[in-house]
Order: sequence, then structure tokens, then C-alpha cells
Amino acid sequence: MPFTLPTGAQMATWLSRLVQLPSVSPDQAGPRAGAPGEALLAAAVAGWFAALGGEVHTEDVLPHRPNVYGVWRGESDRWLAVDVHLDTVSVEGMTGDPFDGRIAQGRVYGRGAVDTKASLAIMLALLEAMQASGVRPTANLLIAATVDEEVGATGAPAAADWMRRGDLMVDELLVAEATSLAPIYGHKGVVRIEFQIQGKAAHSSQPHRGQNAVVAGAQLALALQAEHERLQSQPPAGLGLPALTVTILQGGTGINVVPDACRLALDRRVVDGERAAAVVAQLGDLAQAACPLPLTMTVQKEIDAFYQPVDASFIRQLSEWTGQPPQTAPYGTNAWAYADVARQRVVFGPGAIDQAHAAEEWVEIAAMEQVATIYARWWGATP
Ligand SMILES: [Zn+2]
Repeated sequence: MPFTLPTGAQMATWLSRLVQLPSVSPDQAGPRAGAPGEALLAAAVAGWFAALGGEVHTEDVLPHRPNVYGVWRGESDRWLAVDVHLDTVSVEGMTGDPFDGRIAQGRVYGRGAVDTKASLAIMLALLEAMQASGVRPTANLLIAATVDEEVGATGAPAAADWMRRGDLMVDELLVAEATSLAPIYGHKGVVRIEFQIQGKAAHSSQPHRGQNAVVAGAQLALALQAEHERLQSQPPAGLGLPALTVTILQGGTGINVVPDACRLALDRRVVDGERAAAVVAQLGDLAQAACPLPLTMTVQKEIDAFYQPVDASFIRQLSEWTGQPPQTAPYGTNAWAYADVARQRVVFGPGAIDQAHAAEEWVEIAAMEQVATIYARWWGATP
């Protein structure tokens, strides 16, 4: 049977099926989230990968939250990989049934339709079409279906670890997200830190008996703001300037009590040329030096920027195939996690990011058809 691309209707059917398997991140699951679905979706995906000729590996990243890896052996030494996340954001504020997966007006509706089950549906439909005609990808192919993208971002680093353990360095890695068909070659990373400042309580009539944690926190906040201003005077990197924002400053127990504790939190955007771990260390030193009272530090997020030179061959190729110029993105994705297991990376997929996380979520079937053509060319499966 000669190879033909999957039709829009076939891809819409796959997507509808995926939307009907709720996979709201457990951290955002409310009364409307349905069954705890990320693991059910992972099990279904593992079954489909196996049925479509893939070697399947699964591993729990968090308890009962497995990544699924499907591998299809090709005819060359080249390796291609796709990261596609399984989880979706909350559905509590959505209008209508978030999981009906209805197909109407040339669109598929429901939570995850655009972020990012459309890309998974395209790949499943394409693998099905390839299997039906006995076509194999020319390069080796890894599809990593990852958990926990929307909240903790632990799925992608686990997938990268799995690749590292298997000595797998892929030539081109695509992170599936809604990019309106533009190849995304960079976005900022983020560091989030919380400090607890320890003072000593006393009656405010005798403040010299206490140690004022709120005043110490204020000094630290001003030192951090000065650091932000220093960052603004640096020459911009490819992704622009880093930014540091003090987001929380909290303390005090009563209007006549010297406060014994103060909490300060910050968000620091990381650009190319910086390492998140080095930023954490630098801010730890700065805080020790600027705060007159003892403090403890908790790192809540430590994520590098993703930055791929805009003239990288993979970026240029996708741009040529789609007719869309390469862009950077204001939002973050899993791409940062694969820095040392992929020679080239890109973020790419059908549909607009404005649709993701929205009260009504949908993707155009026509955009899925365009992306299927591009995946087929990339995988070397052409009619
Ligand atoms: Zn997403």
C-alpha cells in the first residue's frame, strides 16, 4: 500500500480520543478534573506506541506519574526526538465540557487540544499511516511523552537523564508546543528563591531587646532591586536582559511587637550565557552579604534559558518548510532540559499559545494537516 499522509479527519479522531482522556496536572486538579488521568493517558500512549511498532520504555518520574519513551529504529545513525507533554492545566474555569473533544467548524475542542495533544495526535496518526504502508523513518526516532510540564517541570529533565544513561545524543529535538507554526529558537529561564529571615521578638517599647526581621528584609529587598538595576545596565544577550523582581515581602505579628521573622521571595529571569545554578549561588552570596540577620534560602525553581542560534540548520529548515520566520517566546517550555543530549533543539507545533490555558481551548484541523506534512518530511516519510 503506497504511503499517504493521514487525513485531517484521522488526526481529529486521534485528538478527540486524547482530549477525552483527562490528564489535568494533579497539582491543579479540582472537582471538574475527572479521573487522575496523566497516568491513564501514559498507559494508553504506551499501548499505542507498542501497537505502532515502537520499543516502549516507561519510568515513574513522580509516584504513579510515568514518562513514556517510544523508539522506532531507522536506517541511518541519525537520531530525531520529540518531547510532548502529557499533562494539561486546570479545567475549573472552562466553559462547556472540557473533555468532550468535539469536532466542529474545522476544529477540535477541549482541554489539551492545543496544549499539546494536537502534536501527539499528529504523530500517532502519522505512525499509523507509516505502519499501514510499511514505511519506516529514515533516522532513528524517539518520542518522549513526559509528565508534569505545567507545574514542576520534572518530566523533561527525567527524560534527558534517561537519554544520558543510554548514551543517547540526538541530532535534532523538537519540543511540541503551540507556536502558530513558527520555529521557536529561544526563551528565558527562571530562578525562584524564597528567603526566611530570622530575627528576635521584643516589645516595641524596648526595641533594642529585639532583632527586627522586617527591617532586615527591607534592606535585602533594596539590595536585590539594586542588583536588578545593575543587570539592566549590562549589554543585552540574545534573549535580551535578565530581570530580578522581589515578589513577596511579608512579616510582623503585631503593631507593638518587634518582628521576629520575615519572608522574602524573588523571581529572576535567566538569559542565554547565564546558568541558573550560578545565578542561585550568586543571589545566595548577595543575600548573605546584604541581610544583617541570619537567613535560610529555599530554591523553588532553577531553570536555564533555552537558546539555539537562529541560523542553526534545524531552525532554518523548519522556517523554510513553514514559511514562518524563527522567533523567541515569552513563555517557557521543556526545551531547556535537553541542552546536553540534543545537538539542535526547537519548539514547534500547531495552534496559537493564546488558546492554551484558556476558558475555551481548540485547535484548527488545517494547522494539524500542515504540521503533519512537516513531521513527515522531517522523519523522511514522504509519499
Ligand atoms: Zn504545553
